[in-house]
Amino acid sequence: MPVTEKQVLDALAAVRDPDKGQDIVSLGMVSGVVVRDGNVGFAIEVEPERGPRLEPLRKAAEAAIEALPDVVSVTAVLTAETGARAGASVRPAATQSAAPQSVAPPHNALTPGVRAIIAVASGKGGVGKSTVAANLALAMHANGLSVGVLDADIYGPSMPRMLGMSGRPSSADGKILQPMQNYGVKCMSVGFLVPEDTAMIWRGPMVMSALQQMLRDVDWGELDVLIVDMPPGTGDAQLTMAQQVSLAGAVIVSTPQDIALLDARRGLTMFNKVNVPVLGIIENMSYFLCPHCGERSDIFSHGGAQREAQKLGTEFLGEVPLDLAIRETSDDGRPITMSMPGSPYARTFRDIAARVWDKVSGEGSARRAPPRIVIE
Ligand code: ADP
Repeated sequence: MPVTEKQVLDALAAVRDPDKGQDIVSLGMVSGVVVRDGNVGFAIEVEPERGPRLEPLRKAAEAAIEALPDVVSVTAVLTAETGARAGASVRPAATQSAAPQSVAPPHNALTPGVRAIIAVASGKGGVGKSTVAANLALAMHANGLSVGVLDADIYGPSMPRMLGMSGRPSSADGKILQPMQNYGVKCMSVGFLVPEDTAMIWRGPMVMSALQQMLRDVDWGELDVLIVDMPPGTGDAQLTMAQQVSLAGAVIVSTPQDIALLDARRGLTMFNKVNVPVLGIIENMSYFLCPHCGERSDIFSHGGAQREAQKLGTEFLGEVPLDLAIRETSDDGRPITMSMPGSPYARTFRDIAARVWDKVSGEGSARRAPPRIVIE
């Protein structure tokens, strides 16, 4: 029998706050519990000044859940708040004024069953945007969310290959398409509808109607999150897309060189222009980890994204190294997050996914300053 939310809360009720002596459930510190198919995620809210010291508490909470039968994975995050907590409510009330980084997902008329649409974008092609989008989607699924991927990279749709999907989507009535599905994630891509090697010239209006069709004419059902793999660049097509789709937020993927060339900054400016919150920057191919000796080389003066994010007032969500295993697994249709879930990279993607979800879902994030996440 799959683990239930009640079992999770009962188990957490045995975990004590080391400073206060009481258990973390009665203290109202547990929020955002997500339980799906044995994957459990939750946040432990702590005062900001205690955050750095409470890693052992986070670990103890994870261990308490791991000990339950039929638990596949556990992700606990420490979040810090500044204001007074009004009980252990999981959702912020709409009337409470949101802190700058909390994002209320906008209602999307084209996809009413989807809670939040998140764009994954990059200033230019080849930075690993699709690789990150695929891994982020699988990481969100591993964290217990229901996830869809919309491959809007109409110039080079790569999601069918990366998510190991082939064939054509079916339609019972000739109007609404069923999304394809693999590894528990739904997906729709132009790549399912036209052969991968067909050169296509897309004009602005065609881009929009293709995107609208993939949103409106696909049976996405109820989803927590729809990840949109955007076309690379910051031209008109991207701008129109960002304007038309009610995005809850955007994640910018960049390489260290890309940061240096300011391409990532253009991406940020584009989303700012259309009032889409930028959730943060992920630095991909950040450093090179030698597969033979394990030595790390910062070949592209790594760390630029972190500095740039700070300068631009957005969050640095994490760094993913240049690693053959990441390339091989995504190019083989078995992204590392699902094929090597115990690897440090899979954990990185799950941590980033948890942070991104925390920001867009508003679960426990409103009425706070930017919540802190403590990543091992
Ligand atoms: P984009 O969507 O930005 O054009 P892709 O995700 O298609 O980029 O990635 C381009 C190539 O780089 C792919 O072959 C992919 O497997 C590889 N790649 C992406 N990220 C990494 C990484 N962190 N380490 C190694 N190879 C990577």
